Amino acid sequence: MPKKNLRRESCKKTLSHSHNPHFMSVTHHHTTELTPCELCQSSTFTILADKDRDGAPLQTVLCQDCGLVFTNPRPSDEALRDFYRESYRQEYKNAVKPKLKHVYRAGSVALDRLDYLIPLLKPGNSILDLGSGGGEMLFILRGLGYNVEGIEPNVGYGSAARDLLGLPVQVTHYSEAKVEPGSQDVVTAFHVVEHLPHPIEALATMASWMRDDGLMLIEVPHALSRCQWPQSRYHIGHLHHFSSSTLTLAGQKAGLEHVDSFTSQDGGNLMVIFRKKRDTTAAPAAIIPGHSQRVLRHYQKHTNLRHALTPLPYIRPLEKAAKGLIEKTTLLKFDNAHDVLDHLVKKAKAI
Ligand SMILES: [Zn+2]
Repeated sequence: MPKKNLRRESCKKTLSHSHNPHFMSVTHHHTTELTPCELCQSSTFTILADKDRDGAPLQTVLCQDCGLVFTNPRPSDEALRDFYRESYRQEYKNAVKPKLKHVYRAGSVALDRLDYLIPLLKPGNSILDLGSGGGEMLFILRGLGYNVEGIEPNVGYGSAARDLLGLPVQVTHYSEAKVEPGSQDVVTAFHVVEHLPHPIEALATMASWMRDDGLMLIEVPHALSRCQWPQSRYHIGHLHHFSSSTLTLAGQKAGLEHVDSFTSQDGGNLMVIFRKKRDTTAAPAAIIPGHSQRVLRHYQKHTNLRHALTPLPYIRPLEKAAKGLIEKTTLLKFDNAHDVLDHLVKKAKAI
């Protein structure tokens, strides 16, 4: 595996990703620069891959000091904001606003997430979801009696949640959202932080919204998963790939304290629960000893052959077909998002 040691000066080197079709829509005419690690500021990287899951150019590196895996170079902050505000959903879901099947799918995922979210909540708690998408999770939580708020940068999805479902969703970037400091019992972000260029800044902003005894639940794709084909792990939208160690370090640098971490049953998703830091004198570790080597070994061992010898590639299409059948049958009964989600609220109440 090629190694590339970059001195700080070399971060000024300008590269263009103009050949990646997704980046073309992200960057237009912007070029991108190599950046130091967002977690530890190191500029010593190992290159893990030079293509994304579709075979288009995308360089992914491993920080040798803390083990964070990330896209480098990446588009400018401004290009990323434009992309998520306007075209992200259209590009990946082929929809400006959520279609009924998207509402049902996102609502079903939200229902599964209640297993680990509800134990963090007390009756009547206030909960804010950053990256609330079409508002499916907020709708179900509101139906269960919680006070909900959402922030969604995408205009089509955010305005659908606000206008069609009547949810209190701010359609904006998190840095521009108006949230009363210290007002939230629980703050959540499901599959959001990996898309952000500055995860520590985002976590610190989210922490400022929490009550002193509040909790934060972050869910991201797990950098150390083995449930997908190796080449499928690199996605243009995923700027950072976190392990429990690197997400915990990001949280610590944002003024948070690790409470718990766990993964989904297939190991594909990582969930970390934080609270506000109580011991303000303890400084977070600058590096995570041995983590970079552990991540590298994981990536080297996760080969196509090893994946082909597991049951996962054969079970997944069957699961997908079964889910598709249930989805089709369910959607025959409803013709609007409100009714689909009311149906899921009833299911949530029965759990
Ligand atoms: Zn690092």
